[in-house]
Amino acid sequence: MGKSKQVGNHKSGKKKHIAKTWKTKRRTKDLDQIHADMIPGNAAKLLKQEVDYDVTGSAQHYCLHCARYFVDLKTMKEHFKTKVHKKRLKKLREEPYTQAEAERAAGMGSYIPHKTIEVHTQQVEENMD
Ligand SMILES: [Zn+2]
Repeated sequence: MGKSKQVGNHKSGKKKHIAKTWKTKRRTKDLDQIHADMIPGNAAKLLKQEVDYDVTGSAQHYCLHCARYFVDLKTMKEHFKTKVHKKRLKKLREEPYTQAEAERAAGMGSYIPHKTIEVHTQQVEENMD
């Protein structure tokens, strides 16, 4: 037994950054919202957004599957290679859970197994310069 572990108390000079930890870290979309975004019509709109200077990269580089904006094409491409993005694609392969499916699973009607869908990283324009 060495030193007794002192748990933060009234004496501790360090301020705990509770406010910081709890700050909503720019909440990302839920998977079902992203599924909706993946519908071609919606996707096209999201991938070709109007220039918005308040948004990272002026909203010109958007990863559809992660619902994230990137500063430039290079950064976005780098992101496509990351684990986060690949994991996300995997997750998105499962179709959103629908009420109809819940009912089938509960024995109402015939159960149709969970379908998986193909999800690929969006195409990026290569001709940058
Ligand atoms: Zn991504």
